[in-house]
Amino acid sequence: MIPALSRVQSALSEPPGFNRHIENALVSDVLIIGSGGAGCAAAHEASQRLGRVVMLTRGGFLESKTARAQGGIQAAVGDADTTSRHFADTMAAGENANDSELVQILTSSASNTIDWLEQQGVRFDREGADYRLQAAGGLSMPRILSCGDVSGNRIMAQMAEMVKNDGVRVVEHAAVLSIRPQRGFFAVDVLTLQDGAGYSLRTAAIIIAAGGVIPSEKRAGLELPGGEQIPDGLQLAAAAGAEVVNPDLMQYHPTGIVLPKSLRRKPVPEVVRAAGAELLNSEMKPFVDALTTRRKVCDAIVNECQQGRCVTTEDGRKGVWLDTPAIDQKQGAGHTAQSFPAFYREMLELGHDITRQLVLVYPLAHYSLGGIRIDANTRTTVRGLFAAGEATWGVHGKDRLMGNSLLDIFVFGRIAGQQAACYAEKHPVPAGSTER
Ligand SMILES: Cc1cc2nc3c(=O)[nH]c(=O)nc-3n(C[C@H](O)[C@H](O)[C@H](O)COP(=O)(O)OP(=O)(O)OC[C@H]3O[C@@H](n4cnc5c(N)ncnc54)[C@H](O)[C@@H]3O)c2cc1C
Repeated sequence: MIPALSRVQSALSEPPGFNRHIENALVSDVLIIGSGGAGCAAAHEASQRLGRVVMLTRGGFLESKTARAQGGIQAAVGDADTTSRHFADTMAAGENANDSELVQILTSSASNTIDWLEQQGVRFDREGADYRLQAAGGLSMPRILSCGDVSGNRIMAQMAEMVKNDGVRVVEHAAVLSIRPQRGFFAVDVLTLQDGAGYSLRTAAIIIAAGGVIPSEKRAGLELPGGEQIPDGLQLAAAAGAEVVNPDLMQYHPTGIVLPKSLRRKPVPEVVRAAGAELLNSEMKPFVDALTTRRKVCDAIVNECQQGRCVTTEDGRKGVWLDTPAIDQKQGAGHTAQSFPAFYREMLELGHDITRQLVLVYPLAHYSLGGIRIDANTRTTVRGLFAAGEATWGVHGKDRLMGNSLLDIFVFGRIAGQQAACYAEKHPVPAGSTER
């Protein structure tokens, strides 16, 4: 069922209320950095094997990209779809620069991952008994499962319950500043942001699930009192001696909102284009197949703007039109409000009826393609240090398909939790250990 407009509201209106306290010299078996999807999946798996699982996150539990994800997750669960098609689409989008072993794991684990999410209470939209599957750029067939157009929010509501029930010790507003490998364990330097106190923790294994690089224009609020910035996962890994690949390689989302100004930097979900919204230049002519891969759509938009076939706002921003009114014209009145209720309502509240007015869009820095090198067991090049999710390199190559990140974080987050727990069982923090 497509959720009715009135029923679509945040599944997480209340913060889950985790701990903000920490004690010096806290010892854990597995320490997870980040409370997004990768961190939660890892914490769950690790906690099935070991008791002392700690999750640190620099903001509130829900302050993650995962909680903001809109469109959905890919899995080849449709009758005519196959894992090999999903694999081929992913490699083609990534221009074969992907690590094919990781892509094999990603695509062959997709269906199980959907089952696992459902076991945690996630409910994907259905049409009758079957999943509702949507198209997106670069997909050879519709393969996106969603929870309305607030998929990340709905999934994280269940993740919050899950890690609470698992007894994971979640510490919010705790920024990890450095990871220092010691003889037989890791020392981890942490700053609690609400009182400015510093702590040194010890752990047998670490999972970096800290998301991607944050572009400079989005880093406001991440400064530390001395003017430095909270490190991202790639910086933490590199400083600990792990290999990081292509740290500056970013993916751009083709349809970042330019107007209304207050929604600038927010992407219009790609499934909106799949539902029939064409991209038009200032001459109101289509100029690109709106459902090709993100990189190609971005290049076409930039080219139109360079050729002067774009719209310039009062404050000098350029953009092209996303023809959202075409959706209801093609699919029937009410389709937009039914299929994209959160986006429709958010725009309407700002006086912009997307069923009547076009949306001005331009590419937006969206996703870190570069990241920490991992192997099939999510091991980094430092023993005992694991990584999963957007912080890593390899799954997506040079361009990521929509829906493959949510899949990536749960597939590899779970593997990281299992592997880190096995490692910690074999190599616990030595009793009476001291830092070098
Ligand atoms: C608006 C939007 C819509 C999207 N829609 C989709 C979609 O429909 N489908 C899809 O597949 N992908 C989508 N994506 C991409 C996807 O959401 C992310 O790539 C993915 O959720 C990343 O998950 P993660 O667990 O790796 O990291 P995140 O969810 O970003 O979590 C990282 C965590 O690490 C913490 N952290 C970072 N540094 C530190 C530190 N030094 N100390 C302590 N904690 C730290 C952060 O606070 C956060 O809790 C979307 C992204 C955005 C922004």
